[in-house]
Amino acid sequence: MLEEYGKKRDFKKTEEPEGKPKKSDRKELIFVIQEHHARNLHYDLRLEIDSVLKSWAVPKEPPEIPGIKRLAIQTEDHPIDYADFEGTIPEGQYGAGKVLTWDKGTFIPEKITEKEILFRLDGKKMKGNYVLVKTGFGKGSWLFFRKKE
Ligand code: MN
Repeated sequence: MLEEYGKKRDFKKTEEPEGKPKKSDRKELIFVIQEHHARNLHYDLRLEIDSVLKSWAVPKEPPEIPGIKRLAIQTEDHPIDYADFEGTIPEGQYGAGKVLTWDKGTFIPEKITEKEILFRLDGKKMKGNYVLVKTGFGKGSWLFFRKKE
């Protein structure tokens, strides 16, 4: 499951966790949103699903309030340990640039299908019911928004 993640990175050069899929011993599932100062600043949304962090790159600031829809491009699964990663990925490496935690907390899935994920986030900034839904355009193209309560 983390094959693509491993292929893209040289762990002798980057401090990102090598990681393996693993069930955490926490009672609750987690999410993290990382502010990633790569060539283009974006926000990486990561949800703990099936012992990995399912990941989407969101080109604009995440939707804290209902009414804002953000494009979210699905990217490779990341290891759970990645939720604790903050640092600078060196020049020449995949995703070179600074990674900071933008928000982090509990992920409560309500429904997960191939095309739609309904969930609740309980973080510092993101608090509420959210939707990720696959668009008809492009393979990894989803929309990410907060539901009206
Ligand atoms: Mn990124």
